[in-house]
Amino acid sequence: MSHVFPRHCHKPLPTVVGGEGCYLIDSTGKRYLDGSGGAAVSCLGHGDAGVIAAVKDQLDKVAFAHTGFFTSEPAEALADRLIAAAPAGLDRVYLVSGGSEATESAIKLARQYFVETGAPERRHLIARRQSYHGNTLGALAAGGNQWRRAQFAPLLVEVSHIAPCYAYRLQEAGESAEAYGLRAAQELEDEILRLGAETVMAFIAEPVVGATAGAVPPAPGYFRKIREICDRYGVLLILDEVMCGMGRTGTLFASEQDGISPDIACVAKGLGAGYQPIGAMLCSGEIYDTIARGSGFFQHGHTYIGHPAAAAAGLAVLSAIEDRGLLHNVQARGALLDAALRAAFGDHPHVGDIRGRGLFRGIELVADRATKAPFDPALGLAGKIKSAAFEAGLICYPMSGTIDGQRGDHVLLAPPFIIDESQIEALVAMLHGAIDAVIGNTT
Ligand code: PLP
Repeated sequence: MSHVFPRHCHKPLPTVVGGEGCYLIDSTGKRYLDGSGGAAVSCLGHGDAGVIAAVKDQLDKVAFAHTGFFTSEPAEALADRLIAAAPAGLDRVYLVSGGSEATESAIKLARQYFVETGAPERRHLIARRQSYHGNTLGALAAGGNQWRRAQFAPLLVEVSHIAPCYAYRLQEAGESAEAYGLRAAQELEDEILRLGAETVMAFIAEPVVGATAGAVPPAPGYFRKIREICDRYGVLLILDEVMCGMGRTGTLFASEQDGISPDIACVAKGLGAGYQPIGAMLCSGEIYDTIARGSGFFQHGHTYIGHPAAAAAGLAVLSAIEDRGLLHNVQARGALLDAALRAAFGDHPHVGDIRGRGLFRGIELVADRATKAPFDPALGLAGKIKSAAFEAGLICYPMSGTIDGQRGDHVLLAPPFIIDESQIEALVAMLHGAIDAVIGNTT
């Protein structure tokens, strides 16, 4: 009997024993094409010699030193590198161990900033209904996914949720993408005014929505308008790039493509590429300086913040992306993946939408293309597709999300940046087979 507390208690799992490029290998020798990098983690694939060597090298020098006493060379170098690549205005980096720690830190930093500027009445956080920001209680409160939140609701702080920017379902007939983007952003201003602008602390959003929606990009102009609204009312803008950042969409920060800078950005997943658990919260000089001049102490922290071996992994991942021109791969192979998905599913009666940026792609499954009606949640389609694909040797990320109160199914794809053309074809063929087998047996 296994004593590991697994994610799904009722299901024995294969034992992973190896990884090679885009494949994971289990103890029976079966190979799985990693079409989602776990959940958008393994951006370099498995067994990357450069990152492994960098981590080993750091462990040989020093494995751990508490950040209450020391900084370290890899932490300093990683922070410099992130700031050099980040949207303008982000000046400081707080290294953590994952995505939930990054968003939790961001929410607490926003609150402490206003306490230290003498505006403690700013306490409201606004987020979006179709979002996921992590599973710790603050991050979970910010997320809008009802299924993830439901049983923990009594433990969660109050957060306002506005509509997502979700053109497939919320853009009206005859409305341009730009007009829709402005209308969607307007909800933020309406909510700020409803709460009382002087009580609002921050707005948090994923630039390209991942787990809860399946790679939904924003409408053109949406985030520019969001930035304007935040500035008008002195509200901090937190962008959660935990899934879509670190090159996944074709630029190191996804928000570069929307032409804005946040006040706080969160990254994780692809930063360590699975070689070490690491995330980062980046913040503006103004926020940092306010605290530095004030209390001088961010009232937060976890034992492993700034871990040297994790920072060494992050640094080696960013070097690999730059030295090997992997952002170019993401753009070119992302276009190939998009084309392959459109060829396979463009006319599929149960695929309503194909979307995404770079190597961050999603398809949305519908019972009826004309009405966009989702499948009955009782069918548990997402879980069945995940199992069928896995059986066939494909790791992908099907999920159910909430669509205006209704549950719907999508599949998220986030393969390694090194995926090649034949692997893209194999991925799409296995996904197609799994979807057709499941829908054929279920409906
Ligand atoms: N934010 C986003 C956008 C995510 O997709 C996730 C994880 O899927 C998180 C935060 C939480 O990250 P972690 O699971 O590393 O805590």
